[in-house]
Amino acid sequence: MSAAQGFEFTLLHTDAHSAARRGRIQTAHGTIETPVFMPVGTQGTVKSLSPDELRDTGSQIILGNTYHLYLRPGTALLQQAGGLHRFANWPGPILTDSGGYQVFSLSGLRKIHEDGVRFQSHIDGSYHDFTPENVMDMQRLIGADIIMAFDECPPHTATEPYVARSNEITRKWAHRCREAWLAKEPAYGYGQALFGIVQGGVFPHLRRESAHQLIELDLPGYAIGGLSVGEPAPVMYEMTGVVTGILPADKPRYLMGVGKPENMVEAVALGVDMFDCVIPTRNGRRGQAFTWQGTINLRNARFRDDFSPIDADCPCYACANFSRAYIRHLLQAGELFALRLVSLHNIAFFHQLMQAMREAIEQDRFAQWKRDFYAGLEQK
Ligand SMILES: [Zn+2]
Repeated sequence: MSAAQGFEFTLLHTDAHSAARRGRIQTAHGTIETPVFMPVGTQGTVKSLSPDELRDTGSQIILGNTYHLYLRPGTALLQQAGGLHRFANWPGPILTDSGGYQVFSLSGLRKIHEDGVRFQSHIDGSYHDFTPENVMDMQRLIGADIIMAFDECPPHTATEPYVARSNEITRKWAHRCREAWLAKEPAYGYGQALFGIVQGGVFPHLRRESAHQLIELDLPGYAIGGLSVGEPAPVMYEMTGVVTGILPADKPRYLMGVGKPENMVEAVALGVDMFDCVIPTRNGRRGQAFTWQGTINLRNARFRDDFSPIDADCPCYACANFSRAYIRHLLQAGELFALRLVSLHNIAFFHQLMQAMREAIEQDRFAQWKRDFYAGLEQK
């Protein structure tokens, strides 16, 4: 069996007036229509939502996180369970992040060495080593359909010489990930597609260098990492455009950790196919809801007697059945149901946004759709 057996990307259409793309990813666990938003299930669950609810919102693929799942419950237990699909009862496609970003952002003391990184767990302070080889093995046992190369993710404030050295580490590690990925049979009888991660900080020539280095590996897909980490949005778009201008057209492109609706709209215009972000659920738990007129905070007093739904155009369970006033009341009372309703709506809204973009691209009217989208936000 080939390492990525069952995985295939088809570029269906490119918008006539922008770089926006309409595509389709085939995996062993089902089809993904792109551009796609992928809800984040860090610990093997998209916070507060059941797999059925995720399906009903239009979720096609969810994320798991290797760093978190390795520390708890551990890959041995996941293997015993038959992989994350079975353990979490999510029958659709799954993507796992390699843990690179978490090792560099969450863990305590960490030290890069020849083989990989030694770090301290954020849970109990215990020491662990991540190497390209063992991270591939962890992702093999977790069993996601799409797995990510282990990379170094420099902070957005990193200097040019630092990022240049970091690119070299990411390049070497990507080679080793590819070797390790090809060396073993997948654990559960279906292929796993390895994506490389383009780094390069906020330096266009280092982004180009990193992209070219990874393309040489001829991987099934490519991600753009190290963005949406505090840099201004125009810088994020500039770096994204530099990289999408280089990446091969026949491979999917994934902008990691992005983002807000406007960020995704801009990145789709630049030719990005896949996104993930915690904000629909994280902000949702704080009462922030996304709508076609922009974001609203349902804790706000002005919603006290507002008996309209969160978004009048949204068919989700929360909008079909409950008012802003009711959800505000639940938030004020600290009721858990409010967190679920707003998270559910936000994820449904992000999927509706992607669905609208997919249709606009198919009909070569993405540029007009984008103007209408921004005009809608101004109506708030
Ligand atoms: Zn809704």
